[in-house]
Amino acid sequence: MIGITSYGAYIPRLRLDRMSIFQAMGWFAPAIMMVAQGHRSMCNWDEDSITMAVAASRDCLSGKDRKELDALFLASTTLPFADRQNAGIVSTALNLKENILTSDFTSSQKAGTSALVAALEAVRGGGLKNILVAAADRRETKTAYFYEMWFGDGAASVMVGDRDVIAEFKGSYSVSYDFVDHYRGAQKKFDYVWEERWVRDAGYSKIIPEAVNGLMKKLGITIDQVDRLVFPCFFKAEHSNIAKKLGAAPDKVVNTMHETCGETGAAHALLMLVSALEEAKPKERILVAGFGQGCDALYFEVTENIVKLPKRSGVKEADKNKKVIDNYPKWLKFRDLIQTEMGIRAEAPTQTAMTTLWRKRKMLLGMVGGKCEKCGTAQFPKMDICVNPACGAIRSQADYEFADVPAKIKTFTGDLLAVSVDPPHKYGMVQFEGGGRFMSDITDCEFDELKVGLPVNMVFRRRVEDKERGFVNYFWKATPVPGAAAEMNKVRFDGRVAIVTGAGAGLGRVYALELAKRGAKVVVNDLGGSRDGSGAGSISAADRVVDEIKVLGGEAVANYDNVATPEGGEKIVKTALDVFGSVDILVNNAGILRDKSFIKMEPENWKAVMDVHLSGAYNVTRPAFTAMKEKGYGRTVMTTSAAGLYGNFGQTNYSAAKMALVGLMNTLKLEGKKYNIKVNTIAPLAASRLTEDVMPPEIFEKSKPEFVAPMVLYLCSEECGDSGAVFNSGMGYFNRAAIMTGPGVKLGDAGNPPTPEQISENWDRINLMDGAKEMEDANTAIFALIAPPEPGKKESGDTGESGADVKGIFGKMPEMFNAAAAKDVDVVFQYAVSGPGGGNWVVTVRDSKCSVTEGTAENPTCTLKISDGDFVELITGKLNPMQAFTSGKLKIEGDIMKSQLIGKLFKIK
Ligand code: NAD
Repeated sequence: MIGITSYGAYIPRLRLDRMSIFQAMGWFAPAIMMVAQGHRSMCNWDEDSITMAVAASRDCLSGKDRKELDALFLASTTLPFADRQNAGIVSTALNLKENILTSDFTSSQKAGTSALVAALEAVRGGGLKNILVAAADRRETKTAYFYEMWFGDGAASVMVGDRDVIAEFKGSYSVSYDFVDHYRGAQKKFDYVWEERWVRDAGYSKIIPEAVNGLMKKLGITIDQVDRLVFPCFFKAEHSNIAKKLGAAPDKVVNTMHETCGETGAAHALLMLVSALEEAKPKERILVAGFGQGCDALYFEVTENIVKLPKRSGVKEADKNKKVIDNYPKWLKFRDLIQTEMGIRAEAPTQTAMTTLWRKRKMLLGMVGGKCEKCGTAQFPKMDICVNPACGAIRSQADYEFADVPAKIKTFTGDLLAVSVDPPHKYGMVQFEGGGRFMSDITDCEFDELKVGLPVNMVFRRRVEDKERGFVNYFWKATPVPGAAAEMNKVRFDGRVAIVTGAGAGLGRVYALELAKRGAKVVVNDLGGSRDGSGAGSISAADRVVDEIKVLGGEAVANYDNVATPEGGEKIVKTALDVFGSVDILVNNAGILRDKSFIKMEPENWKAVMDVHLSGAYNVTRPAFTAMKEKGYGRTVMTTSAAGLYGNFGQTNYSAAKMALVGLMNTLKLEGKKYNIKVNTIAPLAASRLTEDVMPPEIFEKSKPEFVAPMVLYLCSEECGDSGAVFNSGMGYFNRAAIMTGPGVKLGDAGNPPTPEQISENWDRINLMDGAKEMEDANTAIFALIAPPEPGKKESGDTGESGADVKGIFGKMPEMFNAAAAKDVDVVFQYAVSGPGGGNWVVTVRDSKCSVTEGTAENPTCTLKISDGDFVELITGKLNPMQAFTSGKLKIEGDIMKSQLIGKLFKIK
């Protein structure tokens, strides 16, 4: 049996938002709006057909022995070299053996399928056993052009052979015509394209069916025996017409990947084949056709081996790793379609010495270093003397391939002075697992993603181009492993020691568990008392939580002391210092309830609650603060309550104690500032024994402590730079509560104190909270009394002379609605207004009615993105909507045509 034995794909990480092409060039070519949906793949500046072919081939070779390859065929119409075998560069980069047949297949969009037919026939002939077919294209188009929208960059790679076949080759059929739908003269950068209608009618819709029908006739099969029909055709309607003409059911036709990347030229039939193979099950039959000056059609039957293929990136993973950009000038620069001043440094000689390239080809193109056969030290580059000072062996190094060795960033920098197409130039030291280091360029990332310790992959890329002589130099660069930066940005507490009081149950238990799961060593304090703090304690509550943490693989120790006494507080902190050597985090959480209406509130109940909540926080925080101050780091969380912040009948003792904790925080935040100790407060709402009888049962069910814990964990983390804030948290809802001070009014003067009558007369002005502010500390508040704002003076944050603000405008939107223009209209406009005065609003027009709500819609017809200032200008008639759109101030996603209804539906000035 012969056929496909492996597959791989590569789609560049960058995707250009097609709308950005229209936004930049729509003024010039309005018709391109028709195809301005979604995004297309786009090479980084250092990628081309060769680098993409290398990437797809590495993916294809996952789990395969590359030394078994007898031939490499490279198909592309955009090869960097007209006379230097491009397949030879790919072969060297992949470290394939030297006694191998390499060949370029080019000059037609069907080069990919032709190379595949040639490879399969060569294996069938028996002369060659294993052949790698790589296809890649990075097609250039003029700007503001339909093809700029339709095309994409990408590569696919398929291995064929006679062992471990995953898709058996049943046969092929080809037709060849000198049909010139487009061509590119030998010295030209861009294609010349003939009339579209003729290309569709006389080309695609005749030639593809001819080849497919020819193959089916040859093999004696019908279209019903095809489970997946693969053929590229970027004319969307024509693609379905051809399938219909062939009699293929729509669910058998493989998607053209217009939404994933756009059409990738000579690679596209193979890329679509790879996406079909990714989904295919044993026994399924795939027919693939590639159009271009004729057409090749091939037929395969998938085998049981497909399920054994090792994991690879393929099309699916490539799509997950995408980064969509809307910076059209960046696209022009990366494509070399605009000339920018690169500075004198860019003029440094770039000539390549072919002698050196030949001698060092393995090192430069294959990233082959050395490994000492005496001591096992790996090093790059390979040298005559082992780099290990304890070894120093001479000529002891065997070839060692670094390209696939896992590596991490050891140091890095972003250099704005170095010549770079995509500044800052990012580079740094890369440390390989098992030894070896390498000063490497870093590509396919943003500077702020980089971190010491970030795992990276090595990728083969363009390094410098010698434009004068038309030579491209390739070398290896590092790129962050997909998802690794996000993984590293996770909130972690490795090496941190946390104390959670009252952690034997309820909220405290969940805080302790979550902190431990993320690496913290936890002191689980709980005296195990009853809900009102009466009776003897029990050690079991804390012990149970410690056991739970240990089962999860975490570290924890139990403490049973009472927070309500200074000795108890001391002992809790001492436990942390004795067992774990430090205190970094303290969550003051222990609590009891003794509810009674005020008259019935005896001193004993008042005191018991004060002792646990307020004195408890004092007793534990004081020794903990001492330890934190010493090490210059600390995170403390107080626990207040809505009862304290806003009041609750029957809880005078609890409210007073809980609000007192806010006062404690307010001053501790100032005292801790110098020592990097942040103190914040949580006002939780969660189901626990403290709330089971006061919460309605349906809310009690929905309010697990797990919905509060994320806020507490963030406040305990290094990432949290804020101090002195109060956060309400419950049922996944979070907001900040603050003490605000209104602008007020100055009455009387130095010689004449104000009178109670003046207070009465100015009552409304004194009460006014418009423009209220938070005060950093008591001094700021006192200063505000000494120097109040001048009457009538505007504060920053006001929205200009019109007095219009975004919220007010949305409030008035229903009044502006023109119901007469809304007949049969059913649209949902999502507004995403950025800036301090912004927010999200949903405007729904349905059944000739308009509703406006704050928030986000699940499936809006279109989303309008704009800044708060520009939005106000737009609505008040100072900014023309078309100008806002073409200048990029207004961005529209989704059904852009429907957005044009806004002008009709609302009488906007
Ligand atoms: P919970 O009763 O489930 O947990 C409190 C824990 O603190 C208990 O395990 C208890 O044994 C322990 N404890 C009590 N006194 C102690 C002491 N003197 N020393 C050591 N441990 C002691 O209650 P919960 O609902 O998880 O409440 C936790 C904190 O959150 C409390 O401060 C509470 O006031 C506050 N709070 C809770 C809610 C809510 O909706 N659950 C609302 C607002 C505030």
